[in-house]
Amino acid sequence: MNQTIFIADLHLSEHSPELTELFLRQLHHWQNTADALYILGDLFDAWVGDDDHSPFNDHIAAELKAFAQHKPVYFIPGNRDFLLGQDFARRSGLTLLPEQHLVTLYGRPYLLTHGDELCTADLPYMQFRAQSRQPQWQAAILAKPLAERRLLAQQIRQMSERGKAENGKSAVSDVTEEAVSALMSQHPDADLIHGHTHRPATHRHTLPGGQNFTRFVLQDWYGKEGGYLVVSPEGVSTQYLALD
Ligand code: MN
Repeated sequence: MNQTIFIADLHLSEHSPELTELFLRQLHHWQNTADALYILGDLFDAWVGDDDHSPFNDHIAAELKAFAQHKPVYFIPGNRDFLLGQDFARRSGLTLLPEQHLVTLYGRPYLLTHGDELCTADLPYMQFRAQSRQPQWQAAILAKPLAERRLLAQQIRQMSERGKAENGKSAVSDVTEEAVSALMSQHPDADLIHGHTHRPATHRHTLPGGQNFTRFVLQDWYGKEGGYLVVSPEGVSTQYLALD
């Protein structure tokens, strides 16, 4: 065994049954082959509250719970599912982690995050992010009827799609060097693992002081394809996935 799995940006919903199939197939496989599973945000395409007991949500919860009876599952919220809370975590056996989490695996430290907080050039998004992470804002949203929250999620999704169409793969939707440097200078021995940008890659960074680290960007899942990162005593490797 001796391997830990990292995934992010699956954007699962009832509208993408093939992605769900690909994820569940892997989940069953990892149950017997992995030490632990880390989900670094945007597992769901949208999350409007733990009281949303749609058949789809309950199905994913049951599958995660079955997995969690064998191996631990950790979850860091993304910008689509930051309203996911303790109630769903209990139902699905997840351990919720803070937005940034330092973990030591097989003797090496890794800093884990979804990564959206590092996209500091996207000012409108940073503004929305600051607002939407406030407990009062979240409480006010969660107090709204479920139907209204679903509508709101749809609007936020459209806003994000529009942003993507306008910004495309421009620098605005990527992490900034400044934000990455500021974060990693606080964690001098660690490598960084994040998702969110949909730009899967392995980057070597050197900070002005000479500090070196590697930044692993997770693959997003789309259509019938996905991918994951494996951390083992041998190091880090990336794996591609596709539904046959
Ligand atoms: Mn994201």
